[in-house]
Amino acid sequence: MQTDRDVAIIGGGHNGLVCAFYLARAGLRVTVLERRSVVGGAAVTEEFHPGFRNSTASYTVSLLQPKIIADLNLHAHGLRIVERRMANFLPLPDDRYLAVGEGRTRSEVAKFSLADADRLEAYHQRLGAVSELVRGLMLETPPNVTSAGLLAALSEMLKAGKLARRLGALDLAAKRDLLALLGRSAGDFLDDWFESDPIKAVYGFDGIVGNYASPYMPGSGYVLLHHLLGEVNGKRGAWGHAIGGMGAITQAMAKACQAQGVDIRLDAGVREVLVEKGRAVGVACENGETVRARAVISNLNPKLLFQTLVDPAVLPQDFRERMTSYRMGSGTLRMNVALSELPRFTCLPQAGDHLTAGIIIAPSLAYMDRAYHDARAKGWSDNPVVEMLIPSTLDDSLAPKGAHVASLFCQHVAPVLPGGVSWDERRETVADLMIATVDRFAPGFAASVIARQVLTPLDLERVFGLTAGDIMHGRLELDQLFAARPVLGHSDYRMPVPGLYLCGSGSHPGGGVTGAPGHNAAQAVIRDLGR
Ligand SMILES: Cc1cc2nc3c(=O)[nH]c(=O)nc-3n(C[C@H](O)[C@H](O)[C@H](O)COP(=O)(O)OP(=O)(O)OC[C@H]3O[C@@H](n4cnc5c(N)ncnc54)[C@H](O)[C@@H]3O)c2cc1C
Repeated sequence: MQTDRDVAIIGGGHNGLVCAFYLARAGLRVTVLERRSVVGGAAVTEEFHPGFRNSTASYTVSLLQPKIIADLNLHAHGLRIVERRMANFLPLPDDRYLAVGEGRTRSEVAKFSLADADRLEAYHQRLGAVSELVRGLMLETPPNVTSAGLLAALSEMLKAGKLARRLGALDLAAKRDLLALLGRSAGDFLDDWFESDPIKAVYGFDGIVGNYASPYMPGSGYVLLHHLLGEVNGKRGAWGHAIGGMGAITQAMAKACQAQGVDIRLDAGVREVLVEKGRAVGVACENGETVRARAVISNLNPKLLFQTLVDPAVLPQDFRERMTSYRMGSGTLRMNVALSELPRFTCLPQAGDHLTAGIIIAPSLAYMDRAYHDARAKGWSDNPVVEMLIPSTLDDSLAPKGAHVASLFCQHVAPVLPGGVSWDERRETVADLMIATVDRFAPGFAASVIARQVLTPLDLERVFGLTAGDIMHGRLELDQLFAARPVLGHSDYRMPVPGLYLCGSGSHPGGGVTGAPGHNAAQAVIRDLGR
């Protein structure tokens, strides 16, 4: 069977859906082909135990662009995002704790250091100036390095000039901060600001989440910044919860697409990008169907796309080599647990706002540094870094009355285990360790676990197509960011085969549930197809 469309989109992750929406709104006939039986990619809600549902992979929202929420009218399609009542909660081994959030951070930090409490306001102001600049670049196509002639080069130079003007408008302190965040580690940056461990741990966690690196490795500074670029209902830097889980976002996106006439097909894995006379002309599906199209757009991570769906013979050799060395692997293990009751932390046993927070088990940057080095040597650390969220404290649609669900996002497990050992052999051992780690701070937690779903890096690859379990579609490192994402020369969403585009998180501005790559890629395709 063969269908003719203007656009075929491979993958119905949130970026594929956002891209489809804008293209259909521009009057193009769009088909989305999703391999799984649900749209949303890494932003889905699924039942993992009878009566218990949760966001399977990504679990908290902030980076989703307000323009996209408005353009797709996601609220009208059922999306509701609520704030946590406390941003973060850090239980400590000595039974003290740090609670971070609006109206409380200063007094809480003062429990550990008055000097740090006094520096908080300046820290937020300074970081705010830098994040405002970077935030403003998310829905823009970076200047692209081009060899396509003077006219193309001129337009990229104009973009670069505009960027230079914006950088120039920053004051000198902000310029220095930006440079430090791009070049230094999150740990070095935070050590310059603060002296007490707990606040550095809470802020530094943003530098290692989804980043298989010590907080003292260069590059973690940018990852810290990346996690500050969002907002919840207008509150800059806040993280929140989508009622119904992350799937509520992508189900609302699918409805917005359908209202524009997008044809979304499930259980429709793509086997191959069809290339004729050097141009992408459509896709062949695993079920034998062919969809021919004027533009083929991939929502897959670039490594998966170019190593499995595109004939290497049609790619320039240099590009093939770059894709081989494109770095992936965020070193995370994700668990969903069904709970018979809420956890009771030794340091704060009663129920309260802290149970709506991102609960970080990693008391210091040194602890995170050790966990990373342990994982490099052994595959994981016996003292692992775990963030736990209990979304059912904000959302009663996820678990039966009286029961709860929690998301455990465990950092610093090796994407590939040393010594040729498969994650299939270690899944349960490491899952037990993660639960025991929470239990150390909240005794009784392990006994309250009714059921669990464990997703190792290997499972994330198998289920979601995230190569090496990389949640960001490629590491957020200087040579894979902005004009160099996925590689220098292709930051304009156009891939080296004419007619083939990238719209997933492997393109600017990278990973997270942002919708930005999908939005930006759509603009390139609309221009190329003369709309
Ligand atoms: C465990 C985990 C936790 C995370 N936590 C957060 C978080 O809390 N907040 C946040 O903002 N971000 C988080 N992220 C990151 C974020 O979820 C991702 O970066 C983002 O969802 C990627 O979206 P995407 O649309 O670019 O790609 P994807 O969501 O990866 O979508 C790609 C789609 O392509 C499909 N596909 C693959 N191969 C084929 C094929 N051959 N044919 C057809 N379809 C195919 C896949 O099934 C998938 O639906 C997390 C990610 C993970 C994995």
